[in-house]
Amino acid sequence: MQVTSRHGLQVNSIESMSVVDGPGMRFVVFAQGCPLRCKFCHNPETWGLHGGSFVGYDDLLNKLDQCRRFIPQLGLTISGGEPLMQARSCRELLMKAKERGVHTALDTSGFGDEDEFKSLLPFVDVLLYDIKAVDSELHIDMTGLSNTQILKNLETASAHGKKLWIRRILVPNVNDSPEEAANLGSLIRDCARYGNIERVDVNPYHRMGLEKWERLGVVCPYSHVKPPTQAAVESFRGMVTAEAGLRRFDTAQRARVS
Ligand code: SF4
Repeated sequence: MQVTSRHGLQVNSIESMSVVDGPGMRFVVFAQGCPLRCKFCHNPETWGLHGGSFVGYDDLLNKLDQCRRFIPQLGLTISGGEPLMQARSCRELLMKAKERGVHTALDTSGFGDEDEFKSLLPFVDVLLYDIKAVDSELHIDMTGLSNTQILKNLETASAHGKKLWIRRILVPNVNDSPEEAANLGSLIRDCARYGNIERVDVNPYHRMGLEKWERLGVVCPYSHVKPPTQAAVESFRGMVTAEAGLRRFDTAQRARVS
């Protein structure tokens, strides 16, 4: 389901200054709505498209402008939820931000209509692209949906030369197998042909979202899963790096990933 508005978008929350949602300091708009149902999601309150509140472009841009008075280089990141659920509205906001000379990032699972996705690429400086699983059946098991369109959109973004930060939430005994590391490394190697991979982040699954699941009255299927050890994260990252054939990654771990 797509939502289009000429005047704004449905927003879950806003973070004025973040250092974990793109390059440098970011003003982050968390868009409401997500078609995936990741079993590790730590923001399940963003799922319903009609939650949150509607915020006009002008309000969002005014807030951004106010923050940029203190930090002129502050960039804009649209995260979620899944921003591609409101692709046309996000495109408008990104376009208006670019008109102001603002650096822009889109934090996405990549699940969205191909034409809509393509149409907003010219207004995105960097894509933060989460690959939950490369194996198709595993992806369906983890998120409820196929990754066919996600991988297609990744190829499209790469072919457009779009800068990419590839991200993976590592869930022990779910998507941390050597096969998945090899698949992810191979995928990154394919994208790297276009010279557009800027970062690969492997982030540990964490349990900070479990209370939100409880508040929604939904049982989190991974509530029993413990975060991976640092050594497991490093090991997975090493396998991905080796398979990708890229010598240097900026692989800082971060707590927050959509
Ligand atoms: S982790 Fe992100 S993509 Fe997955 S359900 Fe949650 S908001 Fe959607």
